[in-house]
Amino acid sequence: MVILTTALDPDPDVVLLDQLPIKAHDVPWSEGIVALEAGSGIGALKEILREKPDLFGTRAVKGTNGDTKPWTAAEVYSWIQCYLITHAHLDHVNSLVLSAGSMSGSPRRIYAVEQALKDIEGIFSDRLWPNLASWNEKECNTALIYSRLHADDLYKDLSDHLSVRTMPLSHGKDRAGGAYKSAAFFIRNKTSGHELLFFGDVEPDSIASQPRTIDVWRVAATKIPHKLSTIFIECSWPKGRSDQLLFGHLNPEHLAVELGVLASEVMKVRQDAVAKERSSKSQPPRKKQRRDSGSPSTLRGALEGVRVYIIHCKEDLRHDFDRPINQVIAEQVRALIKVQELGVEIIAAEQGMHIRA
Ligand SMILES: [Zn+2]
Ligand SMILES: [Zn+2]
Repeated sequence: MVILTTALDPDPDVVLLDQLPIKAHDVPWSEGIVALEAGSGIGALKEILREKPDLFGTRAVKGTNGDTKPWTAAEVYSWIQCYLITHAHLDHVNSLVLSAGSMSGSPRRIYAVEQALKDIEGIFSDRLWPNLASWNEKECNTALIYSRLHADDLYKDLSDHLSVRTMPLSHGKDRAGGAYKSAAFFIRNKTSGHELLFFGDVEPDSIASQPRTIDVWRVAATKIPHKLSTIFIECSWPKGRSDQLLFGHLNPEHLAVELGVLASEVMKVRQDAVAKERSSKSQPPRKKQRRDSGSPSTLRGALEGVRVYIIHCKEDLRHDFDRPINQVIAEQVRALIKVQELGVEIIAAEQGMHIRA
């Protein structure tokens, strides 16, 4: 379980991971939090606030002369306005299910693609869990409202300040061999236009029956680095995990390849922009450059200014490593891409981290 703090602007603010609370930086937390994923819940939040009591700010104590005290985990949790879910695996929806019965106030929306919402509906069946969710947008007497996201190129409002564009991802196969889908989100601060890119669980394009990550990279490439400089992506396994045992996730070898693909897409965008400018000035075109080699020299600096946060690392239950697994995996990714000098910063996401996105 990880909880992060982040904002969508160059100011220190907060987001959670496995449940990332997000807000625009210039708005207080109490005005409403978008919970990105719902894995870890109020227990994790309590633990974090024990270490960093002021993480979500403080409030004045009545009857004192300016004394303040930190918000409690329950108060912070109650500020969740909506959930944004990549797919309905339990490690991503656990806390929205468990907390649904005890949340007061107006219903919270669950934003996800229709299949993920239907999967969640299977939990709120009045058997596995009481039915606390409704498809009726106007229903007041419910804890949660299912709200469909469509994988198109439009941004849908999540709150007054944030909007999201959804793209599908491949996340392994079910027992019958059918493709299982997850999602990537481009989350935009509506005022500044700045975005972050968040990946739900994802398998490598090189082994997916339908490669979809390439489409996400192509969109991201047009925004890097000025509109988009923060990416959250999973790397569930450490180096050496075989393709047969990835179960729809990434390992450092595959993540390194994916980052190389992103870097070459960024270079293509830049080369196209140069060519366009040249043609608008009616200059004769230069010799066509090779654009697909992916060699270190052609990609050098392509991802300058981009930070990639590694999330969703599976616990090292056998104690194969003497350091935390997220740090081990981040270090392995760094070592694998070093020679390409992409300029990207690889960071192990930690619980309670402050991120400026
Ligand atoms: Zn999953
Ligand atoms: Zn997962």
